[in-house]
Amino acid sequence: MTSTERGIAAAEAHSAHNYHPLPVVVATAEGAWVTDVDGRRYLDMLAGYSALNFGHGNRRLLDAAKAQLERVTLTSRAFHHDRFADFCTQLAELCGMELVLPMNTGAEAVETAVKTARKWGYKVKGVPDGRAKIIVADNNFHGRTTTIVSFSTDPEARADFGPYTPGFEIVPYGDLAALEAAVDAHTVAVLLEPIQGEAGVLVPPPGYLAGVRELTRSRNVLFIADEIQSGLGRTGRTFACEHEGVVPDMYVLGKALGGGVVPVSAVVSSREVLGVFAPGEHGSTFGGNPLACAVALEVMAMLRTGEFQQQAVELGEHLHSELGLLVGGGAVDAVRGRGLWAGVDINPSRGTGREISEQLMARGVLVKDTHGSTIRLAPPLVISKEDLDWGLDQLRGVLEG
Ligand code: PLP
Repeated sequence: MTSTERGIAAAEAHSAHNYHPLPVVVATAEGAWVTDVDGRRYLDMLAGYSALNFGHGNRRLLDAAKAQLERVTLTSRAFHHDRFADFCTQLAELCGMELVLPMNTGAEAVETAVKTARKWGYKVKGVPDGRAKIIVADNNFHGRTTTIVSFSTDPEARADFGPYTPGFEIVPYGDLAALEAAVDAHTVAVLLEPIQGEAGVLVPPPGYLAGVRELTRSRNVLFIADEIQSGLGRTGRTFACEHEGVVPDMYVLGKALGGGVVPVSAVVSSREVLGVFAPGEHGSTFGGNPLACAVALEVMAMLRTGEFQQQAVELGEHLHSELGLLVGGGAVDAVRGRGLWAGVDINPSRGTGREISEQLMARGVLVKDTHGSTIRLAPPLVISKEDLDWGLDQLRGVLEG
């Protein structure tokens, strides 16, 4: 038995089977590359679902984390700590907002956004108690809690987890008229991914996000942008909403905010909106802890340079022009995306997304399928052009093979 086989067998025996990982057991990683327990190297073209935008083992992030580990790692919010104010101030500034509410995982931040919008609806907008409605899009992915799966349209994510949380209406993604028809006097928020990642990197039609912004503003409804996967450089901008010149009422952030080092998430909004909370009404033991703040401060310092966004623009153009050449050749039905982020629909005649992912793995490239026949490419933004080209060569090899 190889170390890989031993590792997988032990994991299968003692973990819930809520994932179907590729058969690779990673031991170390640096930049865009990982090495498995048997010494094989792979190019990581998934980057922890965009949590690793700045690459594995990023020196600046590791140094920030190590320095903080030696000082203080957790106070809980029962006390103040000396990294918290900087974290909140700088994150609010990065978002052009006023207040920050830190959590840990993406799903927790989405839950926080839902609670915030409801409370804002009752306390500020004047919606009758218990009647608040939040509009979401079909094919959304916002996380895995019971409330969040209540408004999922993915049977795998949702089935057998009821009873479901009421108060949500689902409309087709990208359809402004449907959204407009769904908004009523009790609507407190529209919650959307500016680009739907898990659905296969679906980019809405031009003008959609701007239209949502106009509609929500005119109807006194909050526009909540879940930028957990699309944000923080991935699309070539700090936020994917920027591509349409849109500023939502609330950003929901996660993944890359913790640099792939620690889980850090947050809701960022105005004083009118996040100001609805009073002590005791919401929180998290680890939310906004010193280690999380120290790493996120370094993430924000890197984002302020603009170099990662620029890298996503330049390499993204290259990625999309290369992928575009594959469409129409029989193996690839469609390619979508923005920046260093692409969904590639494989023609079913060439195999499932899973089979393509396994064949790529055999050639030293790690990707993950989503929804059957789609593979998603989201390498760390620090990937070199040579490595990206090598990865694309492997994809061509698999598709031709
Ligand atoms: N929202 C979006 C857009 C996501 O892509 C994800 C995770 O993929 C989440 C929320 C949930 O984040 P987490 O897995 O950290 O709970």
